[in-house]
Amino acid sequence: DLTHKVILYLENISVSFDGFRALNDLSLTIDAGELRAIIGPNGAGKTTMMDVITGKTRPDAGKAFFGQTIDLTRMNEPQIAHAGIGRKFQKPTVFENHTVFENLELAMKMNKGVFTSLFFQLGDEARDRVAAVLQRIRLTDAADRQAGLLSHGQKQWLEIGMLLMQEPKLLLLDEPVAGMTDEETERTAELFVSLAGKHSLVVVEHDMAFVEALGGQVTVLHEGSVLAEGELADVQNDPRVIEVYLGR
Ligand code: ADP
Repeated sequence: DLTHKVILYLENISVSFDGFRALNDLSLTIDAGELRAIIGPNGAGKTTMMDVITGKTRPDAGKAFFGQTIDLTRMNEPQIAHAGIGRKFQKPTVFENHTVFENLELAMKMNKGVFTSLFFQLGDEARDRVAAVLQRIRLTDAADRQAGLLSHGQKQWLEIGMLLMQEPKLLLLDEPVAGMTDEETERTAELFVSLAGKHSLVVVEHDMAFVEALGGQVTVLHEGSVLAEGELADVQNDPRVIEVYLGR
């Protein structure tokens, strides 16, 4: 069924740390172009799941495929990044002493493997790509500003822009709106909605107003496996989900 092309397929993934099962038969399917939110209490296994997808942690058991054919369990982190999976950690990491434009330029050069040639001039096509990403992340007016002078929200958008320069098919984002103002949070939801379709996004987030604004399917993790999945309103009314959140 071409309307449901799968971009990420996890089947019965298990990961143990010293006998403790951080992931326990976790199965998850993400369709191409989807915008999926992952929620769940602390310790549910959200970070470990991201680590398995990006090759940082190798599962003890289970299958993990990117698209139909790419077996993630047989690849290392750089190979997986190169295959088209971009990850953003919670804290922004930008080159503070470079301008916004230069940060995007550097991100593209890192991708092309010409990172050493910082003074290598970009061609017109590359400059157009930087301009397009600047517009997407709404930092066109801040292009010449030092990244270190940006607000927290703007730094987060810049880092997302840096990921976009690498043209990932799948973006993994860890609590992207933590520490953002309400307005920045709304703008981030708009950005993600605009990226879905062309990209697939998996977003770990605690902010339920943000998850609601994303509007996609929600997966609830608990004790290393999927507890519930569906529309936010439905999973929020699921008695098992309520118990997990209120029972602590
Ligand atoms: P979440 O991101 O949902 O808060 P994590 O994936 O970080 O959950 O953690 C799941 C469980 O695995 C937690 O109980 C955590 O303490 C444990 N854990 C995670 N990473 C390690 C590790 N490297 N060594 C030992 N235990 C770990």
